[in-house]
Amino acid sequence: MLNELNDFLSYSLHCANLPDQHQRRADRQFSPFSLTINGHTQVDCEVLGVITFTPVVKRKLQKHIVLSCGVHGNETAPMEICNQMIADIANEHLMVNHPVMFMFGNLPAIAKQTRFIDENLNRLFAAELDGEGDERVRARELMSEMARFFKHADDTDCGSKHHYDLHTAIRASKNEKFAVYPFTHGQAYNKQELQFMSDCGVNTILLSQGPTTTFSYYSSRYHDALSFTVELGKVKRFGENDMKKFEQVSTMLRHLIQDEVLALTPYSECPLQIFKVNQVIKKYQDDFKLHFSDDTANFTDFKKGSVLASETGRQYVAEHEGEAIVFPNADVAIGQRAMLTVIPYEL
Ligand SMILES: [Zn+2]
Repeated sequence: MLNELNDFLSYSLHCANLPDQHQRRADRQFSPFSLTINGHTQVDCEVLGVITFTPVVKRKLQKHIVLSCGVHGNETAPMEICNQMIADIANEHLMVNHPVMFMFGNLPAIAKQTRFIDENLNRLFAAELDGEGDERVRARELMSEMARFFKHADDTDCGSKHHYDLHTAIRASKNEKFAVYPFTHGQAYNKQELQFMSDCGVNTILLSQGPTTTFSYYSSRYHDALSFTVELGKVKRFGENDMKKFEQVSTMLRHLIQDEVLALTPYSECPLQIFKVNQVIKKYQDDFKLHFSDDTANFTDFKKGSVLASETGRQYVAEHEGEAIVFPNADVAIGQRAMLTVIPYEL
């Protein structure tokens, strides 16, 4: 079985047996498995594309860490990072000192190298999610696996719970790596987590200002995890990523799992740029259009009063000097978020 861990992603895609979209769940050639690596690390794979490593010797104040990737099927770099970490754990090049769960999100979309099949999986993480579409079934599966893992953390009175949902963005960004800090409902922002992001090379932080149905909001809200949606650069196909650009984040994720105490750069020395969301702009009409070119980078800022987007009956303008745009996408479904705007924020 260790062999399967050398390329866990390919193994998972193979088990999912994907060619026939409509029968794929019936076709799953997967049985759960467990094993131990040389007596020191317990390995459990109960659900396709989800694998947990737990140190056999329990220490106090262990972190419980969830690393998710492939929630959008074409965002390959984070999957390559996680897949390599799993192989390195299996081959004992990376020691696990804190329980860690890896999740490969949308397997059918990964197989097709597309963002999603029917629905954007990262809009479906709601505790009361219903419906039978493939992404809905998968969202429930991922939420229940995460709940099981974090319940173990609660039962064993562990140190802290962490969730990093790793993505790459559709468009280029002025700040190539950035992270979204989910809405905390008034809880203080965790500076250590910001230091960790900074040491990952993620120096732009976006503070979300309202509840959402993203995976990181779900883990933060329902499991009290320290969570981020982490954007690591631009979408590329498998094998086309310049992995050097991801060395820093990959190194830090390895330290996170391996080091008993994680050494971090002091907050005052972190070159962090923090923004808060100012406007969440949704698309209400078919003729919704952006008033800047398609290749405008994330975090490009505008003069106060600039028209950013329009549709029949509505116009969206920059309300502040230097208001910047993030995640613009005019192609979303009616009623969905087409763009965020952000303004600088002092923590
Ligand atoms: Zn994504």
